[in-house]
Amino acid sequence: MPEAPLYFQKGFGLKSLVREPLEQDYRSAFIDRVRANGHELAAEGLTIRLAKEFGFCYGVERTVDYAYQALLKFPGRRIFITDEIIHNPFVNERLIERGVRFLFGRYACGEEIDRLGPEDIVILPAFGVTAAMMEKLKSLRAVLVDTTCGSVLNVWKNVERYARDGFTAVVHGKYDHEETRATVSQALKYPSGRYVVVRDLAEADLVCDTIVRGGDRAAFLRRFEKAVSPGFDPDRDLERVALANQTTMLMSESLEIERRLRRAIATRYGEEHVAAHLRAFDTICSATQDRQDAVAELLREKLDLMIVIGGYNSSNTGHLAEMAGERIPTYHIQGVEELLSADRVRHRDPHSGRIVETPGWLPAKPLVLGLTAGASTPNSKVGEVIERILELRGLTVPA
Ligand code: SF4
Repeated sequence: MPEAPLYFQKGFGLKSLVREPLEQDYRSAFIDRVRANGHELAAEGLTIRLAKEFGFCYGVERTVDYAYQALLKFPGRRIFITDEIIHNPFVNERLIERGVRFLFGRYACGEEIDRLGPEDIVILPAFGVTAAMMEKLKSLRAVLVDTTCGSVLNVWKNVERYARDGFTAVVHGKYDHEETRATVSQALKYPSGRYVVVRDLAEADLVCDTIVRGGDRAAFLRRFEKAVSPGFDPDRDLERVALANQTTMLMSESLEIERRLRRAIATRYGEEHVAAHLRAFDTICSATQDRQDAVAELLREKLDLMIVIGGYNSSNTGHLAEMAGERIPTYHIQGVEELLSADRVRHRDPHSGRIVETPGWLPAKPLVLGLTAGASTPNSKVGEVIERILELRGLTVPA
């Protein structure tokens, strides 16, 4: 019988040896000082308030740490990662510079997955991989370094349980996001496994309407073409539903979706039968929650504008920008290179998702500026942004 492939999930005991390169790549002594100063930096005519929680979450710290440990553990071996380790271009590019190759996605190196073998190392990212990809990698017998975040594994556990018990998973998430693709694939491990992914309240309402009134089956399947399990039948598969979330969604929206689903089920089957037709489990991770709470707290202060730093494809960063953008002028930037001048900023519009340039973003008057960063943004990038803002204001970085 062939041996099982080597599988690592808990690091290699090399933490102390990777501390230095990690700090060199991602730490900022300047940000450490701002934190120590009550998350505030006051200079002439400019106050910068940093959110209480921002930047690398525990899952990202762990995944990056394991990747660096893998580089140390397997010198001279080919080390691959399936796709982006996290949604931050700087971190992915840093890994490439350190010798990691990507199999899929925008950084794909061109190597065919079928050409991998037992000598190769494959890192699985914080989002995890689909059940089918996991099987594929096992069949190649490559060494697997699984850095899937524990909070993601928790969602998978719930989705698997729903499938086993004959409930269709309604996943609040983005159907094309790596984490959600991996999550819904867990349902398909069971013959009774079904899922539908809803992106927002509008899509949740379509599901709710179908539960209450039935409706146009063909229109439903057209709308959710890419977001339902194979062979999905809205008449059959929405009878018993169970809610889960991509870990990085907006908490307030997830809670609202749960309320609307509960109301739809009660209307259709009666209040006393809700438990038989609906299960719900909040699977938003605590790191996402903490970062959203910290933005809500910042927004209670009087701010003139907000800067949110993080990859443009980072879901949790996008939601932080959405929250702030509802209240004050907000600029979601990927890094310091987007601060073109004191007059122009290039940023992602949270509503259209387009990258746009906006003039007059940093007016020459006394300003209070709020600042936060998504869970995949290193402190080094946050530090660079603050230093650039000071520079644009003709100020120097305090010692
Ligand atoms: S955002 Fe949450 S689920 Fe994602 S890696 Fe961080 S802690 Fe894990």
